[in-house]
Amino acid sequence: FIFYHISSGYSFGDSIRGIKYNMTNLEKLKVLLSQPQKVVITSHMRPDADALGSSLALALYLEKKGHSVEVIMPTEYPDFLKWMKSNARVLVYEADKATSAELIKDSDIVFCLDYNALHRIGEMGEVVKKAKAKKVLIDHHLMPEDFADFSMSDTNAAATAILIYELIELLGDNELIDASIGECIYAGMMTDTGSFRFPSTNKQVHLAIADLMDKGLDHSKVHQLIYDSNSESRLRFLGYCLLNKLVVVPELHMAYISLSKEEVYRFNLQSGDTEGLVNYSLSINGIVFAAFFKEDEGYVKMSFRSKGDFSVNDFSRNHFSGGGHKNAAGGRSEGKLQEVIKQFEAIAPKYKTDLINSYKSLSK
Ligand code: 5GP
Ligand code: MN
Repeated sequence: FIFYHISSGYSFGDSIRGIKYNMTNLEKLKVLLSQPQKVVITSHMRPDADALGSSLALALYLEKKGHSVEVIMPTEYPDFLKWMKSNARVLVYEADKATSAELIKDSDIVFCLDYNALHRIGEMGEVVKKAKAKKVLIDHHLMPEDFADFSMSDTNAAATAILIYELIELLGDNELIDASIGECIYAGMMTDTGSFRFPSTNKQVHLAIADLMDKGLDHSKVHQLIYDSNSESRLRFLGYCLLNKLVVVPELHMAYISLSKEEVYRFNLQSGDTEGLVNYSLSINGIVFAAFFKEDEGYVKMSFRSKGDFSVNDFSRNHFSGGGHKNAAGGRSEGKLQEVIKQFEAIAPKYKTDLINSYKSLSK
């Protein structure tokens, strides 16, 4: 479902991608942004390329419009994302709580990008909740919580980055998009669509990219910066996971990889090093459900991916306090790795029929 509603009331105006959005409230946001404002842009914990790209694209645009802008991420993010223009200005809440909280308290508008609930930004959520600032949610995750004054939520959107592109367009400022903003937007769309292979990739994504190319986007450069940035040790670690850690359960069309705290330590894994690992399991012929488990201090973080009808959003919501999208979700569980895996292995067979159906629907 789609709702581009901004605050309350629905009165529909023009549409982009065939999506109706609320003209009245868009006008309100436009009015709000017609004066210089103190803006803070936030995104979710362990930011990915969509989180960071959306945030920096919006920051660069709002600065061109004369606003003063701060970008605050709840936690650190991987080095392979640090090439984006204006990356150096990003504050990390965890590393600088006092300054970050002060900026949020003092702001006029807080943008909440690429997350659907305040708990997705951890401790910072309370600070945002209490702030007097107007909150603007721009997101594509399922089941958004109702905490924002303005929201642009489209669960069919391939990435939050395309919503940023559309917002700039809706505000009548397409010509302000330059090559640097284009790179940030492209990075978000490229990674959230698995390099344009997931079903969420649509004509509008490609049309937006065509427009970004007109504006000077170098798409190969972005791809190389993100995907050709392995260290030798990271690649060898990938080999270790695929050779020694991959578990395949053919009768459930399922495969998973798990990593203990000890392994995380032994391979000196940095944030981002295990990103994308779950996709290798999903790439096996006949597999429609993939999971990845990474043990941390006292809890296990999980990534789930699926193909076809099987909803990992539901799976993760129902069993592992998580959520996300139908085919890509995450969750977490308190406890030790072995217990969590045991729990997972007990739950998965209950979905045998769903998994088989998902597989069958694919091979049609
Ligand atoms: P990833 O596996 O890449 O960390 O996350 C996949 C998707 O699920 C992302 O869209 C992410 O926002 C969402 N997600 C990841 N972890 C969690 C979680 O703990 N809770 C919820 N609600 N969503 C999550
Ligand atoms: Mn996203």
